[in-house]
Formats: sequence, structure tokens, C-alpha cells
Amino acid sequence: MEVAAVTKRFGGFVAVDELSLTVPTGSFFALLGPSGCGKTTTLRMVAGLERPSAGTIRLAGRDVTEVPAHRRAVNTVFQSYALFPHLDVLENVAFGLRRRRVRDARARALEALDLVELAHLSRRRPGELSGGQQQRVALARAVVNRPALLLLDEPLGALDLKLRRQMQLELKRIQAEVGITFVHVTHDQEEAMTMADTVAVMNHGRIEQLGAPPDLYEHPRTAFVANFLGQSNLVAGTVVETLAGGATLGVDVAGTRVAVPVARSVAAGPRVLVGVRPEKIRLLDDAAAPDVADNVLGPGTVVDTSFTGVSTQYQVEVDGVGTFGVFAQNAGGGPVHAPGSRVRLAWAHAHTF
Ligand code: ADP
Ligand code: MG
Repeated sequence: MEVAAVTKRFGGFVAVDELSLTVPTGSFFALLGPSGCGKTTTLRMVAGLERPSAGTIRLAGRDVTEVPAHRRAVNTVFQSYALFPHLDVLENVAFGLRRRRVRDARARALEALDLVELAHLSRRRPGELSGGQQQRVALARAVVNRPALLLLDEPLGALDLKLRRQMQLELKRIQAEVGITFVHVTHDQEEAMTMADTVAVMNHGRIEQLGAPPDLYEHPRTAFVANFLGQSNLVAGTVVETLAGGATLGVDVAGTRVAVPVARSVAAGPRVLVGVRPEKIRLLDDAAAPDVADNVLGPGTVVDTSFTGVSTQYQVEVDGVGTFGVFAQNAGGGPVHAPGSRVRLAWAHAHTF
């Protein structure tokens, strides 16, 4: 599936702004972004439910921009399941096949129900199912005619957290089993990273960055991506030198030199933002020596500690720089550095972006 320079205007408002992306066939792709950034509008244009103001949509290499929705090999699953209340589960799934007079509709519907592990409930009505089960029926109905592309618009949004986590893994399994290209829309960064091979981070109608989840997390290229995917510490600095034949920048942060691998830097130019994830930072007391491959900032004062079970989260006020969040794995026994302690921050050059 390919979206090429697609724009959607509603009156004077630009909801999708010259957006381009290519989704590899057979992959699990996530479109991630805050509410209102244009995710649903993008999906609706791919489905043929909304007409682009400009640009081209291709499916399997064919320009389908002018092709009506029912002639595209695309199905969509929405947050609202839209099941027929008076039909049982099997007939809900078989409905589209029967309408198109597909011969073995019943067998194929059962097969799809098997895939979502609901074959045993095929005679129930939707009203007799839980929310999660209804979502599975909607999914079975969407894959039963084997579309080339399945669009999922926040399909797990109505489920509680535990069920949502379970369904994330289920969806991943189902996608791997059927091999259909999935484009999954969500505003939940954890959901996108858990499920997708590739995540496109969207903001204000545009793609900010696209990549495999570990790549996006380790090497965010904009402040928006750094903050939307997990937490980041970002500080302003000035590029003062180029090291290692251009592979690393020397950046001055409030009088301290920090090494930043260039491929990971936020932007070229003298003023940059330097970032590091809270869990990549170690706290050093006076006696401890940093590693030669570490960036070191400080000293600073621990202003807050909170014990979360898995980790201890520190807030450290670094003199003349600002406040850093630091997550330290608990070794047992709770926080090591009490509020008021003086510490330095150290993290590997490689973890700087
Ligand atoms: P998302 O799914 O990312 O939350 P949407 O694609 O639904 O975002 O909406 C993107 C923007 O376009 C929002 O500001 C929304 O209000 C606006 N919008 C969406 N559909 C319409 C419409 N039919 N008419 C006018 N504005 C719309
Ligand atoms: Mg939406």
C-alpha cells in the first residue's frame, strides 16, 4: 500500500498534509499519533471512504485514488464493532460472503472464527458476548474474505487495559497467521511498539518519523518523537566540534562537553537538543569514576525519589542545566540516593540522541 503526497482539506483546515508512506506487503504497520493528528482521515482515504484533496493512493501497485470503496480489496475494523444484533456470530461473519453468493460461506466463516478462537460461540448473538469477544467477531468478519489490506482504527480502544494487552498479542498472532497487510491506527505508543514491524509517528497531518520500534525509541529525530515514544530528557546545547571523522559531534551543554553520535542528533546546525532516556542514566556519587565512553553531567542534587517496584525514579536538578528524570533498576532495598544527595549523571555516548 502506498500513499503518495496525499493532502486532505476540510474547508480551509489541512487535516492531512502531503503525507507519503509505503507499507510493505504482509507487514504489520502502525500509524501512531495524538488525537486529531489525521490518522482516521488517512485510513478513510486508503479505504476509499474519503476523497483526497490531492495525491495518489496505490494498492498492490495500482492507482486506486478514484476507485470506490467497495471495489478496493480493503476492509476496516473500527472501535465500534457494528455487528448485526439479530444475527448470530456465524451469520455476522458469513454475511458479506452470502451477499456475494460465495459458495462455502459457512465453512469459511467457521474457519475465520477458529482463527479468533470463537468457533465454539458461533450460535450466540452479539449481545451475549463480552466486548472483547465482539471485537474478535468483528475481526473474523474483516478477514473472512481475505482482503489484501486490513485497516484497524483504534480497534482496542473500548477494551480495558488487561484485555487490550491480551488482544494486542492476539492481533499480532492473527496477522502472522493470515499474512494480510495490517495498518493499525492508535494513539497508544506502547500498543504501536508492541505490535508493529514498522511504526509511523504522525503529528499535525504529517509523518514525523518512520521506523522499526527499537530504532524509533533509540534514535528519535525530533523532540516530538522523543517525548511521544516513552520519556526523554532533552537539553539545549551548541555544536562546538566534529569528532571521529564526522561520526560524532562535540556539543557544549552549559559548559560541559557531551559526545553525540551524528546519525542520532536531533538536527544539524549549531543549536541542537541533546537527548537521553531516563533508564540509560546512571547516578554516580563522589567516589565513583565514569567510563571513558560515558557522557557525564553534574554535579546535581537529588530532589525527589519514588519507588515503583521495578525501578526507582529519581528527579535530579543538575546545576545550571535543568531537571533530569532517571530510572534505576531496583537491586532490592529501595532508593540508593536519598533526596538532597549530590550526584553526577553518566550514560554511554551511544545512548545519546
Ligand atoms: P485522529 O484520527 O488522528 O484523531 P482525524 O483524522 O479524525 O484525527 O481528524 C484530523 C483533524 O481533521 C481533526 O482536527 C478533525 O477535527 C478534522 N476532521 C476530521 N474529519 C473532519 C470532517 N469531516 N470535517 C471537518 N473536519 C474534520
Ligand atoms: Mg481517529
